[in-house]
Amino acid sequence: MCDQAKKGIGHLAVIGIGPGSQACCTPQAQQAVADATLIYGYGPYLDRLTLAPHQRRIASDNRVEAQRAREALTQAAAGHRVAMVSGGDPGVFAMAAAVCEQIESGPAEWRTLTVAFVPGVTAMLAVAAECGAPLGHDFCAISLSDNLKPWTTVLKRLDAAVAGDFVMAFYNPRSTARPWQLDAALDHLRARLPADTVVLYGRAAGRSDACYWVSALQEASSEGVDMATLVIVGANATRVIERPQRQPLVYTPRYQP
Ligand code: SAH
Repeated sequence: MCDQAKKGIGHLAVIGIGPGSQACCTPQAQQAVADATLIYGYGPYLDRLTLAPHQRRIASDNRVEAQRAREALTQAAAGHRVAMVSGGDPGVFAMAAAVCEQIESGPAEWRTLTVAFVPGVTAMLAVAAECGAPLGHDFCAISLSDNLKPWTTVLKRLDAAVAGDFVMAFYNPRSTARPWQLDAALDHLRARLPADTVVLYGRAAGRSDACYWVSALQEASSEGVDMATLVIVGANATRVIERPQRQPLVYTPRYQP
């Protein structure tokens, strides 16, 4: 172990850089990136950063989270100032949990490191803010990816959300490798929720090619949905306000007994 690590100088910042544009990346996150010399992350997230010549980027595929976390912790333990970037918020279906898992199972010296978690604007808030207030009251967030949990668990959680009348924000609704999950979830919900339940789609929120659309659950589908899309399924009460020449507003009103 080098001297710096013995003195605990190594540092890891797990940073959320928001959904897309620089404007949505907090000053705290920008500063945390600027303070690091080694920057780890999924390539497309790293592409959004402007780095100084002394900063080195280490890009990896988004399926190698545990390995990326171990490498970053190893470099921090060697005395480097390391950043790990996630899109949105690092604690929402992203790198913060992977880093904690590795600290728990890794060498004891990793527990002596300074580790900072820097929050970011998560996709569901960026989408909701563009469309009104669909998450204005009780809601939940569910990842439709069955990479890390079985599909039966996803269905169990959908049932619990329906029983609790929660608005649901679906992360990871569809990708090339997981083409059927959103349609399966919508079919599951169609059998349990009113046909006119509001389904809101937000794609590439916070970027120049952002787009948003709304559908009723009865005709909702995965058409146009990709890995950059977030889907919000309203609770029974969620409403759409049509406006002339403007995007409709989607909101969830206060609970009325
Ligand atoms: N940590 C991220 C989420 C990572 S999971 C966050 O807090 O936002 C990846 C999923 O997030 C995508 O499949 C998509 O559902 C959603 N997502 C990420 N960025 C998005 C964006 N700009 N617009 C809409 N959805 C987005």
